[in-house]
Amino acid sequence: MSTGKINVAVENIFPLIKKFLYSDHEIFLRELVSNATDATIKLKHLTNIGEAQVDYGNPKIEIKIDKDAKKLHIIDQGIGMTEEEVQKYINDIAFSGAEEFLDKYKDSAKDSGIIGHFGLGFYSAFMVASKVEIITKSYKDEPAVHWVCDGSPEFELTPADKTDRGTEIILHIAEDSTEFLKESRIRELLTKYNKFMPVPIKFGTKEEELPLPEDAAEDAEPETKTVDNIINNPNPAWTKQPTDLEEKDYKEFYRELYPMQFEEPLFHIHLNVDYPFNLTGILYFPRLGRDMNIQRDKIQLYQNQVFVTDNVEGIVPEFLTMLRGVIDSPDIPLNVSRSYLQADGAVKKISSYITRKVADKLKSLFNEDRADFEKKWDDIKVVIEYGMLSEDKFFDKAEAFALYPTVDGNYYTYPELEEKLKENQTDKDGKLIFLYASDKDAQHSYIAAAKDKGYEVLLLNSPIVSHLLQKLETSKENISFVRVDGDDVNNLIKKDEEHISKLSEEEKESLKKLLDETIADKAYTVKLEALDSNTAPFTITQPEFMRRMKEMQASGGGGGMFGMGNMPDMYNLVVNTNSELVGEILNTKTKKKQERLISQSLDLARLSQGLLKGEALTNFVKRSYEMIK
Ligand code: ADP
Ligand code: MG
Repeated sequence: MSTGKINVAVENIFPLIKKFLYSDHEIFLRELVSNATDATIKLKHLTNIGEAQVDYGNPKIEIKIDKDAKKLHIIDQGIGMTEEEVQKYINDIAFSGAEEFLDKYKDSAKDSGIIGHFGLGFYSAFMVASKVEIITKSYKDEPAVHWVCDGSPEFELTPADKTDRGTEIILHIAEDSTEFLKESRIRELLTKYNKFMPVPIKFGTKEEELPLPEDAAEDAEPETKTVDNIINNPNPAWTKQPTDLEEKDYKEFYRELYPMQFEEPLFHIHLNVDYPFNLTGILYFPRLGRDMNIQRDKIQLYQNQVFVTDNVEGIVPEFLTMLRGVIDSPDIPLNVSRSYLQADGAVKKISSYITRKVADKLKSLFNEDRADFEKKWDDIKVVIEYGMLSEDKFFDKAEAFALYPTVDGNYYTYPELEEKLKENQTDKDGKLIFLYASDKDAQHSYIAAAKDKGYEVLLLNSPIVSHLLQKLETSKENISFVRVDGDDVNNLIKKDEEHISKLSEEEKESLKKLLDETIADKAYTVKLEALDSNTAPFTITQPEFMRRMKEMQASGGGGGMFGMGNMPDMYNLVVNTNSELVGEILNTKTKKKQERLISQSLDLARLSQGLLKGEALTNFVKRSYEMIK
C-alpha cells in the first residue's frame, strides 16, 4: 500500500469544493458519467487504430445505488487506469484542473449564474461524497488499483483484485446529500444530462415481454424476461445525416425530446457544419400562440451529446429562442459568463449561421409548397416578424418569404404587393400607401369603404406589427402604411381630386361653431370635409402616427420617446359637409333639435368604431327609442 499527499497549492480544497456551486451539486453525476463515456470512447478509438489489442465488445456504463451502505457506483468498461495513470490523471492533472477551476471562478461564479459548466471534473464528486473510491484496471496488462480519498488531501493507493477492464467509482454519499441515494432523483439526473450520451447507460433492470410464439393460444400470457434498463438513446437524430432521416424520424425525436408535448412541430431545420466551427442540431418550429408551454420546452444545448443547459441566450439569436430542439457544439465556451459569450467571435459566427440556416429553410419551404406555407403563416409569423425587426440580415432575406395577408385571405410577399398596388394606391405625391386593418370585425365599416374604392386592405394583427411597419417605412423608399380607420376613406390615399363643397364659407363657419359647442368631449377634433354625398356623414378616425406610437410603447421598445403611452386617445371627427344629414342639421330651426341630431350622429360614429360604452351607450339607446316613437 502506498499513501501520498495530493499536491496542494490552495491548502484545503475540499471544503471549498463542497461549498462551491451550492445550487449545482447535481452536476457531479454528469461529470462522472462523462468521464466514463470518455474512457469508453477512447478505448474504441484505440482498438480501431490497432493500438489496443482487446475485444471492444458492447460496453456500457452502469449506475448502481447501494442504499444500505449509502454508496453510489458508476461503473464503466473503458480504458481504465494503471497505477501510474491514477497518480498522473487523478492526483496531479485532475486535481490541478479542479484547483485551477475553483481558483478562477470562486469569486465570479456565484453571481454569474453559470457555475458548474465543465471543468470541475472528477473532484466534483466531493460535493456530495465524504469519501470516494476508484477501482480501476487498465486495458494494458497491468494490475488493478484501488484509490481512496476521504476528502482530505491525503489519499491511499493499493492493489486491487479487479480482473475485468474498466473503472468503478464509488461515492460514499455524505449525510447532507442523501437525496442522491434516491432512485427517482438519480433517474431524473440521468434523464436530464445523459439522455443522449453515446454509450448505453444502465440503471437497474426492467421486465420486457417476449413476443408470443406463432401457435400461441388466444389467451396466452406473454412471457417476460429481465433486461437492462438503458436510460439513454446513444444515437439521437441530430448526430445522423439528414439524408438518413425521414420526416417521421424527426417527429419521433421531437417527442423523445419533449415527452410532455403532444402537439406536432410545424417543421424542422437540421443544422450541420464542421467549418469554421463544429455544430450540429435540429431546430423545430412549434405551433406558437395556442401553446402555453413555450417557457418550459426550450432549445437544449449539448456538448458532444452531454446536456449542458437550456439557456441558449447569446448563442441562438433572441428571435429564435421561441423555437425548440437541440444544438450540439464542442466549440461553445461554457465556463464563461454570458456577457463574455456574446462578445466571443466563434459564438457570434454560430449565431449568424443559425440565422442564415433558418432563413434558407423558410425560403425553401415557401418555394416548395407556397399554399402550405401560407397555411402555417399565422403560427410562425411572430418569429419571422420579430427576426425581421431584430436582425438586419434576416430582414433582407425575409423579403422572399415574409407574407402580408389581405382581409380576403390572399397572401403576398412584399415585392408582389408593391407590384400589385402601385397603380391604384400611389398618392398624388408619388407615395405608395398600404392600407391595413388589425381587426376585421371592429374595423368592418372602414374596410368596406376602402374596398368600395377598389383598395386592397391587408390584415396585420400580430402584437409587434407597428414596429415592423415602422421598420419597413424606414427601409423602403417612399411608402407608408395607414390603418383603414386612420383617416376618412377619401384622405387615406390623397389623390388630385377636386371636392366641391355644397356649403358656402359662412355655412361652414356656423356648422363648425355649432359642432364645437355641442360636442363636449375634448377627445374629438372636428374636421369638415367635402366628401361624396353618399359617404357617411360622421366618421371617427384615429391618426396613424399617434396610434402607432402608443401601440409601440405598449408593446415595448422604440417609439415611446415622447411618452406617448400616457397620452389620452385622440380622435378626429370627420364631418361630411356634402351629406344630406349635415344639410338637414344646418337647416333645422330649433337649437334643441340640432343638438339632438348631432349627438345622435356622433354616437352612431362612435358605435361603428366600438367607442360607445357605459352611460353614453345607455343614453344613445334611450334617445334612439324616443326618435322612432
Ligand atoms: P477531464 O475529464 O476534463 O479530463 P476530470 O477531472 O473529469 O477532467 O478527469 C481527469 C482525468 O482522469 C481524465 O482526463 C482521465 O484521464 C482520468 N479519468 C477520470 N475518470 C476516468 C475513468 N472513468 N476511466 C478512465 N480514466 C478516467
Ligand atoms: Mg471529466
